[in-house]
Amino acid sequence: MMVLFILDITIIFSLTIMESILSKPSIKSILIVGGGSAGWLSAGILAARHGSTVNITLVESPDVKPIGVGEGTWPTMKETLQEMGISETDFFRECNASFKQGAKFSKWVTGQDDDYYYHPLMLPQDFVKTNLAPFWSQNTNGQSFSNSVCFQEALCEHGLAPKTITMPEYNSAANYAYHLDAGKFTTFLTKHCTTKLNVKHILTTIKKVKQRKNGDIECVVAKDGNEIHADLFIDCTGSSSLLLGKTLGVEFIDKSDVLFIDQAIAVQLPYESDKDPILPYTLSTAQDAGWIWDIALSNRRGIGHVYSSRHMSEQKAESILADYVGPAYKNLTVKKIPIRCGHRKEFWKNNCVGIGMAAGFLEPLEASALMLIEISAKFIRDQLPEHKSVMSIVAKRFNERHTYHWNRIVDFLKLHYVLSKRDDTAFWRDNRDPATIPESLTELLTLWKYHSPYRQDFHHKEEVFPAASYQYILYGMGFKTHISERDKSKNDALCKQAIADNHTMIQKGITLLPNNRELLQKIKQYGMKAI
Ligand SMILES: Cc1cc2nc3c(=O)[nH]c(=O)nc-3n(C[C@H](O)[C@H](O)[C@H](O)COP(=O)(O)OP(=O)(O)OC[C@H]3O[C@@H](n4cnc5c(N)ncnc54)[C@H](O)[C@@H]3O)c2cc1C
Repeated sequence: MMVLFILDITIIFSLTIMESILSKPSIKSILIVGGGSAGWLSAGILAARHGSTVNITLVESPDVKPIGVGEGTWPTMKETLQEMGISETDFFRECNASFKQGAKFSKWVTGQDDDYYYHPLMLPQDFVKTNLAPFWSQNTNGQSFSNSVCFQEALCEHGLAPKTITMPEYNSAANYAYHLDAGKFTTFLTKHCTTKLNVKHILTTIKKVKQRKNGDIECVVAKDGNEIHADLFIDCTGSSSLLLGKTLGVEFIDKSDVLFIDQAIAVQLPYESDKDPILPYTLSTAQDAGWIWDIALSNRRGIGHVYSSRHMSEQKAESILADYVGPAYKNLTVKKIPIRCGHRKEFWKNNCVGIGMAAGFLEPLEASALMLIEISAKFIRDQLPEHKSVMSIVAKRFNERHTYHWNRIVDFLKLHYVLSKRDDTAFWRDNRDPATIPESLTELLTLWKYHSPYRQDFHHKEEVFPAASYQYILYGMGFKTHISERDKSKNDALCKQAIADNHTMIQKGITLLPNNRELLQKIKQYGMKAI
């Protein structure tokens, strides 16, 4: 009898909790403010999953143009496009996209003409079975780390594509990301999201944001006075951060004491001939106070000089870019973009999440911004709170995870500067000042003097840069890990075999894979087989 009574009470109590949760309003509408890459990627990612049950609207200003740079992606973009139901052939054709198989860093270590290393997009051979770094360091045979353990550097140096035309969309022999035209990409996504994914599109400028007493955003007010209401707001207004920064007052954490780049000058350079090579990697060439990116699309190159204005004048930075580009420079439109390096203290506050430049920006050395947009939108997609009652819990988890990601990216970017041996200018010397190096990075570098990074060094399930990426930068830049007797390879046979297998893959790749420009032309002409 007593047991039944307790059971009854428990059931009634649970039902009361359930009723109270169910009576809380659920998330039925999402408003994305901003129509740059962040806005449209978020819209596509969310609508592909929730478009039939949640009203998703994107409002963008016809007067404030998107930033229009951001042309290098991560391989994550393949999955993102696929999940949105995008034909890869259409994407290549309409966004003048090309294959990116990694980044080549030139003149970052000594500044000499023969100084370069690669950060490819594939794990070292047999990475899940063994760590090749200690074995390689004792048996370099004059080969760079990346070339010894990964066949992608050779493909890049030979100007090859990562696949053949017979391989279906999104399939390949070597992993890849994209170079794309940022302006065309947002137009492409706009069309796809509005015609295929049920996203409502409003063109107007938001002039005001109304809040409730508890701080939640109630609605945004357009310049014609129309109010747009929603349950969840996504701030993609770029560096103005209209909702998260300006309205909710979330503090900006400045990282310019660690990463000095604060200005960009960008141009678009057409190819001289349709025979010019299309580099299948992002080329990043170090300069006196920054570096130049060179991104080859199918129809033109995107080139830009990012630099520290504390170390170089605008005039000098522009003359360095002009020298790099050559005589064609004088006919090009030059875009100057200030960079504010850092991020918001919180990314999700009340019923508002900041994504893209509204959340922050770190210099584009590893093209991490679009990837951060993708993982932010995917987190919201996967954990979209069922009811407003759990919004603060989801927000807390989002903030913890993303603060971790941003800090890891800061460390990884700084690593490129810390390991440089360049002494020729104050910019490089200042970058190695211990006061500018995050403690977390100093700790890792101390650890890695005695063992090379491997999978267990990072505990996060969704690490943005895995241990393999650290290996490519460390050993590409000449970092030395002391190999103790204990660490000397216990599996020499396995390592030797892995390095031999990689060599075989290089030979196969060079023989079988087509020239990058030729494949891109074929894709434009014939398309790829859909999967
Ligand atoms: C020099 C440079 C190089 C870069 N290179 C790379 C790279 O290689 N790879 C990479 O991943 N990323 C790169 N990035 C970052 C990338 O460009 C951005 O992360 C990306 O474009 C996202 O921008 P966004 O959509 O957040 O902002 P924006 O493109 O600025 O878009 C803001 C949007 O908000 C709208 N808006 C603003 N105010 C209002 C308002 N009041 N009402 C209505 N709408 C409003 C605007 O109309 C616009 O549509 C680079 C950035 C810079 C500066």
